Amino acid sequence: MGTVIHLEKLFSLVPRPISQSLTRRLLVRTPIIDQLDQLPTWLQQQGQPSFRAGQIIKWIFQQRARSFAEMTDLPQALRAALDEHYTLTTVHIEKHDQAADGTEKLLVQLQDGGLVECVLLREGDRRSICVSSQVGCAMGCVFCASGLDGVMRNLTSGEILEQMLCLQKLLPDDERLSHIVMMGMGEPLANLENVVQALAWASRDTGLGISPRRVTISTVGLPPAIEKLARTDSRFHLAISLHAPNDELRNELVPVNQKIGIRKLLQAADDYFTVSGRKLTFEYVLLADINDQPEHAHQLARLLQGRTAILNVIPYNPVQGLPYRTPSSRAIRQFREILQSAKIVVKFRQRKGDKINAACGQLRRQKVQPLQGRSSDQ
Ligand code: SAH
Repeated sequence: MGTVIHLEKLFSLVPRPISQSLTRRLLVRTPIIDQLDQLPTWLQQQGQPSFRAGQIIKWIFQQRARSFAEMTDLPQALRAALDEHYTLTTVHIEKHDQAADGTEKLLVQLQDGGLVECVLLREGDRRSICVSSQVGCAMGCVFCASGLDGVMRNLTSGEILEQMLCLQKLLPDDERLSHIVMMGMGEPLANLENVVQALAWASRDTGLGISPRRVTISTVGLPPAIEKLARTDSRFHLAISLHAPNDELRNELVPVNQKIGIRKLLQAADDYFTVSGRKLTFEYVLLADINDQPEHAHQLARLLQGRTAILNVIPYNPVQGLPYRTPSSRAIRQFREILQSAKIVVKFRQRKGDKINAACGQLRRQKVQPLQGRSSDQ
């Protein structure tokens, strides 16, 4: 995997005898976060009681350990063996930004050099995190920074969890993460297995202990994957990125819709609701003069009528180089009023962390294509 590419780089940088010993060391060391289920077996092979697995897992998720050496209730020899066989972290924080409203954003570098973004949001008692599921994105939503260069690869479940652990370490010891949204870079349902595996650990009491009720998977809406999620693990909250009230417009804004269509998408969403009992969220990014007109609000109201759902309207967060604009506050108010008078439950998401490019994909893009820079309002 990524390790191999990394090693090739190392070969060119270090003298041969060192590179050989490094090779052996790096090749045998596996990320422990990918091996949590296998830990009891490995411990047995080491002649250790299996309860040590629980201790190690507690150090990783609850005691926020940064090294095996810190795991002081483990025998010294076991700590050394862990260090020999496993790596505790595979990612590296390339950039850390903080906004005045308490939002913090990390640009995280993966072992193969890939970059993803994740965000910590503070709102009252809430400590929510927004996590990426892929390097880049293949969905091609025309207004989104994440997909501008296509998708590079899926993240492993360990890489998804590591973002959560990096964000957790930004909190003081007496604060805990409370909510997770899979709204970072990538399409989570295009990487369903790894996302579900990571979220299972995040929601387990022995993991991060975040109730599945406080976990949201945001998706462009891939019906077969929604159906699979309903069959495998329907405890999570689903947010569907709708962005348009009719197929003609959605085909333009969310090109993957051309192969799906809103009717099929809503059917899959309704079926998920039936199985999960979890209220659906529909997301609608408001783009000036494109999907923010009164006729769009009326169509949207008709589309969502009768559903147990919340509509989350998000004023567009401008991306440099893209022609889309945030609507005026008048247009936003008018849009809201039409929906409210049709008895649709509407929430208007406030833009948080604008100054640190907290909208998905923006920070990575700045890094990947530094010459293109950012617009002055970001
Ligand atoms: N692929 C998933 C999750 C990623 S993005 C999805 O499509 O839902 C999470 C949400 O942010 C999506 O609703 C996405 O359309 C929206 N979004 C992307 N770029 C944005 C921008 N520049 N301003 C506001 N919202 C944006």
